[in-house]
Amino acid sequence: MPTTVCRWAFRSSASRSTRPPSWKWDGWPRRGRGIALAAAQTRVLVLYTGGTIGMAPCDPGDPASPLVPAGRDHLLRFAPNPPAGIAWDVAELTDGNGDPVGPLDSSDIGPRHWCLMARAIAQAYDSHDGFVILHGTDTMAYTGSALSFLLDNLAKPVVLTGSQRPISAKDGDAAANFGNALAIAGHRATGLPLVPEVVICFGDVLLRANRATKVSTTAARGFDSPNYPRLGRLGGRIDIDRSLVLSPPERAFSAHAILSGTVAVVSLYPGVTGADLGRMLDLDGVDGYVLRSFGSGNAPTDRGVIAAIAGATAAGKVIVNITQCLEGGVEMGLYQAGHGLLEAGVVDGGRLTVEAALAKLTWLLATGSAESARSRMPIPLRGEM
Ligand code: ASP
Repeated sequence: MPTTVCRWAFRSSASRSTRPPSWKWDGWPRRGRGIALAAAQTRVLVLYTGGTIGMAPCDPGDPASPLVPAGRDHLLRFAPNPPAGIAWDVAELTDGNGDPVGPLDSSDIGPRHWCLMARAIAQAYDSHDGFVILHGTDTMAYTGSALSFLLDNLAKPVVLTGSQRPISAKDGDAAANFGNALAIAGHRATGLPLVPEVVICFGDVLLRANRATKVSTTAARGFDSPNYPRLGRLGGRIDIDRSLVLSPPERAFSAHAILSGTVAVVSLYPGVTGADLGRMLDLDGVDGYVLRSFGSGNAPTDRGVIAAIAGATAAGKVIVNITQCLEGGVEMGLYQAGHGLLEAGVVDGGRLTVEAALAKLTWLLATGSAESARSRMPIPLRGEM
């Protein structure tokens, strides 16, 4: 039996937000610049989960010692002031009893924390106009993908950001990323378009989170979405392409922070044997697998390999095929080497990123049967494919 890691649901009483009229934001007003802010104050919840942005060397006397997450006070000491027109609340992640669970290196963030983040957003949903999640970059795209599924009928921006350098570093990227994220979440004050979805705001790009992937461990543009256009450009000013952004939903917001069981990722590699694959697809308590195949969804035609995969699907495991390539997607009928997977009962993952595939399958298996996960996996549900 899979273990339930979190069970919780919320439904909002509020209806959808209104669209602000303008497209572009030219930066925080400096003295004498005279940028007109919307009259209404906007309230943004900043959820600090950890990551480099708030890290400091573990040995204060040795700047070269490994970075560890520091507390909220450290972050706030270096954070930019809340911009005019935006009132913010800064919270840390807490568990069901209200006890703090962070800040964390994002390598330590998993499905349980996704649920806690969804719950924190849902609890503050009616009282805030937007949400900023400060998060480590390493697994930010996984968290963003998961939140896109856990938050149903989202009508407010949920903006994930972090940085390659700590906020305390001179000339780092943290303050700009933080400021841009606040500008997008605080759209009522900045006049930017409403972005009613989960996004990653990083460096000079705004990306749909469930299309994004980390592409650099060092560059200011740490993320990209090779299979979907960037939603916006960030820099001296912010340009958002409204035609690429999801429309606000007609129905009321709800959050389903219910995740059970585990999904694993298995990568094919040259020389993989059926016996090895059979063991990898038979992990205890794992109901679903994301299979990272070659090119347009291909696998070795070796009978043992196909038999191992067919055996796992016959045992009720849901196996979703995605490509190891950054661009393009799965077309299992194109080559004989892909056709075998189709016949083995593998589900087409289209152009899903590994992050979105893992999050979507985890969510589908937690909210429905294996059969419904198989049929819903290829259907676009949150602009992820
Ligand atoms: N290890 C860090 C993290 O993901 C890296 C970062 O934030 O850039 O938490």
